[in-house]
Amino acid sequence: MRVWSVLLNSHAKTIEQKVMSVIQDSTKLVHLLQIHSFIIKTSLDRNNFIVAKLLRRIFSSSSSSSTELPYARSLFDAISLPDTFIWNTMIRAYLNSQNPNESLSLFVQMRLQQGIFVDSFSLSLVLQACGRSTDCSNGRTIHTQVLKLGFGCDLFIQTALIEMYAKFGHIDVAHNVFDEMTDPDLVSYNVLLAEYVRVGEISSAQELFDKMPDKDLVSWNTMIHGYASRGELGVAKKLFDRTCEKDVVSWSSIIAAYAKSRQSNEALRLFHEMQVANIVPDKITMVSVLCACGDVGALGMGKMVHECIERNRIEIDLKLGTALVDMYGKCGDIDSSMRVFNQMNKRDVFAWSAMIMGLANHGLGELALDHFSRMISEEIKPNDVTFIGVLSACSHIGLVDKGWIYFKSMNDGYGVTPKLEHYGCMVDILGRAGRLQEARELIRSMPIAPDAIAWRAFLGACRIYKNVELAEEATVNLLELEPHVDGNYVLLSNIYSQAKKWDKVVNIRRMMKDINIQKAPGSSSVEVDNAVHEFVAADKSHPQSVEIYQMLAEMSNRLKNTGYVPLTASVLQDFDEQEKEKALAVHSEKIAVAFALLSTAPRSPIRIVKNLRVCDDCHLAFKLISRIYDRKIVLRDRNRFHHFVGGSCSCKDYW
Ligand code: ZN
Ligand code: ZN
Repeated sequence: MRVWSVLLNSHAKTIEQKVMSVIQDSTKLVHLLQIHSFIIKTSLDRNNFIVAKLLRRIFSSSSSSSTELPYARSLFDAISLPDTFIWNTMIRAYLNSQNPNESLSLFVQMRLQQGIFVDSFSLSLVLQACGRSTDCSNGRTIHTQVLKLGFGCDLFIQTALIEMYAKFGHIDVAHNVFDEMTDPDLVSYNVLLAEYVRVGEISSAQELFDKMPDKDLVSWNTMIHGYASRGELGVAKKLFDRTCEKDVVSWSSIIAAYAKSRQSNEALRLFHEMQVANIVPDKITMVSVLCACGDVGALGMGKMVHECIERNRIEIDLKLGTALVDMYGKCGDIDSSMRVFNQMNKRDVFAWSAMIMGLANHGLGELALDHFSRMISEEIKPNDVTFIGVLSACSHIGLVDKGWIYFKSMNDGYGVTPKLEHYGCMVDILGRAGRLQEARELIRSMPIAPDAIAWRAFLGACRIYKNVELAEEATVNLLELEPHVDGNYVLLSNIYSQAKKWDKVVNIRRMMKDINIQKAPGSSSVEVDNAVHEFVAADKSHPQSVEIYQMLAEMSNRLKNTGYVPLTASVLQDFDEQEKEKALAVHSEKIAVAFALLSTAPRSPIRIVKNLRVCDDCHLAFKLISRIYDRKIVLRDRNRFHHFVGGSCSCKDYW
């Protein structure tokens, strides 16, 4: 009984003072419970001042709100004559809870108490509660009471009214309240500003922001968040740069904005700057940074963030845990992904889906389906993302009939309407198994117009099974949807080459010229010493470019010595054979692998992320490189992971 001994040995003058100071120093609910039993035993529970102090301390203690509120309520209910201050403390506690309506009912009870007067604080709290529960009619009633009680010109109350009307969706009324204020302070400005941002009226927010006589960090952060959440990164970044004394909220908003718009390298660069500026990141920052790490495959940086979370003893809650599971999965470290997942003490549908998706993308289909069964047995309802994972798992391990069962169960069993992605997966499953007619039937019978993904999956299957006729049909549809994507022409051209229909290959080239096909810019990134290096095809911008090209030349020689012949059919430009070979040799993933071979320790694994589907030639070259240089290469392309080891790939050449 640590608290008791402190109380009895303290040097403060009176017992009341001792209790007050111990309450002040307690941060844990368990200590507060001990103090409570002490004050009951010593009859100090009749001292409103002490009880109020205890109540307030409970709400600011670090324990979770789910246990403290009911306890505080029992304490409150035991007080025979709570004063205004105690009523307000309790009303405020409910305001920040899941149940803000309870604030209102407490307020109604308080009004019925004889000799207890409501003050401006009670009124502003209850107005906020009405706003949060979007209880429009009660809100208006309280507003009338405010006027009757003569609090109409109170700054606190006017500010609460602004927020309340904005939450009701009456931003114009909120603005009227603001206009009627004789002397709005910074808080009232900030409240209106935040409400404009929340409802998406960014130009009104900007107008108000420009008019503000004073701005504090809250005002700047509100504007940064406003532009960032609309994807207006340029404006957000300018505001961010102009903000002096940036805090964790400013950094979090801007990093989240870059991570969300998939400008992940910029997000990671900013995170680095934030660390240099000595700002301790919070959970929200961590989640954004992990998302950026996953996007570019920055495993080293992701691990560093994980260590930072553990070092700072940040609780790994659902969101953070899911972000870690997802990051490790996307960075090719599926073992760590599973470790984090297994350590999470609570898992929701997002956590399960991230795990299932990761396992499926790594070709661990059986394990992914096992996880799905466990999820169902734990009574977690799957959503559409879960089913993309489940169907991809079936596709990667070739489970056609099981795939059908899962696909049909979506609607019938779980009330999840299949979307385009699910049809795409199903077409892929059928196509891979060679059931081309069935796949074609499924596309034809789709209740929504098939998209390019479904047709491309079908075309890929036609290629594997060398069905020129169905491939042509697929291409007509695919090119209608995506006339400018070069990959579609490459696929068809490969099919014609395989069937030795050279005249058709020539036709395709002509078509591409006529409609001016732009090559989708392929890029690959690789992480070395926690820094992500990104390369495009024929990239010479890297400071170590000279060495990289020497390495590429060496690679190409050693490849040719093993009998490798470049698959020039993948190049559609009207080049001669030699030029085609040259173009292939500088594909972004080859540059990335050359750089990794140069800059990492012998035998260490190489992880590369490619934004598009890996081409046939790079896939062949990577298989050979894994053997020649004795390296495991993990390549993530747009569709899946390829683990190249000892001359072969985990995808078994089907991707
Ligand atoms: Zn390539
Ligand atoms: Zn592969």
